[in-house]
Amino acid sequence: MEASKKFLNEEKIRELSAIQEPGKERIKDILQKADELKGLSLSESAELLAIKDSDCLQDLLKTASYVKKEIYGQRMVLFAPLYTGNHCNNNCLYCGFRRTNTTLKRVSLTMNEIKRETESLLKEGHKRLLLLSGESGHYPLKYTMDAIEAIYSVEKNGASIRRVNVEIAPMEVEEFRELKGAKIGTYTCFQETYDPVLYKKYHTSGPKANFEYRLNVMHRAMEGGIDDVGVGILFGLGDYHYELLSLMSHAADLEEKFGCGPHTVSVPRLEPAPGAPIANNVPFPVSDRDFKKIVAVIRVSMPYTGIILSTREKTELRNEVFKYGVSQVSAGSRTNPGGYSGGGENIQFSLGDHRSLEEVIGGLIDDGYIPSFCTGCYRKGRVGNDFMDLAKPGLIKQFCMPNGLVSFAEYLNDYASEETGNRGFSLIHSITDSEPSDKLRKIINTSVEKINQGQRDIYI
Ligand code: SAM
Ligand code: SF4
Repeated sequence: MEASKKFLNEEKIRELSAIQEPGKERIKDILQKADELKGLSLSESAELLAIKDSDCLQDLLKTASYVKKEIYGQRMVLFAPLYTGNHCNNNCLYCGFRRTNTTLKRVSLTMNEIKRETESLLKEGHKRLLLLSGESGHYPLKYTMDAIEAIYSVEKNGASIRRVNVEIAPMEVEEFRELKGAKIGTYTCFQETYDPVLYKKYHTSGPKANFEYRLNVMHRAMEGGIDDVGVGILFGLGDYHYELLSLMSHAADLEEKFGCGPHTVSVPRLEPAPGAPIANNVPFPVSDRDFKKIVAVIRVSMPYTGIILSTREKTELRNEVFKYGVSQVSAGSRTNPGGYSGGGENIQFSLGDHRSLEEVIGGLIDDGYIPSFCTGCYRKGRVGNDFMDLAKPGLIKQFCMPNGLVSFAEYLNDYASEETGNRGFSLIHSITDSEPSDKLRKIINTSVEKINQGQRDIYI
């Protein structure tokens, strides 16, 4: 397909990936430009990715923290993945669900089982889910559409899931048009690696072996009317310089064609997985130091694109990269279908952060973040271009901060222990008191008061 050939200029990207580390003065100039919150060119991002010097890396991390704070403030959006099935026709050598892994027990949840999983997640306090599955005839589009409907239909103590994002195999434009009707939030699909030769090596059979078809999936999704798309790389499969610069070219092309780039970038790193040879012997390991650099370069280069971090990473590293740019995190996750309501051991990969949602929230409070369950933008239609138009002048803070605080107050009332409740409300009060706008302070105080009196699902 034409689109991919244009944005993936392999020769140019290879050249940029091999760029030498620039001098300190040059790094300072690039970071000064990043401070303007308008992003960077591909070659400037390449120069930042080439940083090895510790002082320059610290300067980059500092700039990324500044950009994160200016645009996203203190909020951190929380979600949980819901795996509906692990049957898969593909043979991705890094994944426990791959077709030739005979050690895995195959499971597909029925609609009732999906509702039970949803109930368990609602009991914890979740409001945003990411639905995932393998790629198989067991999961035609109708199955996914029914699953989404089943999730939205569950009500537990007056609460229900308010946003379902979807991470399933690539489809045709017409199918995306149909999926949009199920009221999904973001459609996510990771390219895994943008290197066609490595891609072929890791994806040995099944529909996913078609590199071009996957590479063009976001163009098809947006053509099919999906407003928000999420891209990602599986770090560890290829050289991270090349991967990230390719992803940025991908994002730039979507922006040029559809007036809006990806809503989110995910940064999964390869984790050990049962029956997955590549996952247990990572071809291009990414160190923690490089991982922090990667998150920071994404933050300063694509300031308005959310960064999603999963529970693949350990608690300490998660806490650190929250500062450098992450805006959405999963919490209390299971990667086995049925895992929330007591299902078996059939995991896709191992997790680094095993804390419950409440424990993750406790950690966020300690570091001064607002744990947010907000779904306001999506439900008010502030999606795609409209969201970006709001985000760019910094207005994101005016909606997301108050909505985040109010959704957090709702969580504290309904799900938190007394101790978390006290700590959470004192954070809400201190953030509200330090808000300089009288109007915004009033909106937050009035809404939190309404929540405390029993009203639910308030957002602006
Ligand atoms: N099966 C669909 C697909 O591959 O696009 C849906 C998503 S799959 C369930 C979710 C993602 O898990 C994959 O895109 C891959 O990047 C990631 N994944 C697979 N094996 C992994 C591993 N060992 N460590 C970390 N992430 C892994
Ligand atoms: Fe199947 Fe997705 Fe796992 Fe590949 S990554 S084996 S497509 S579930």
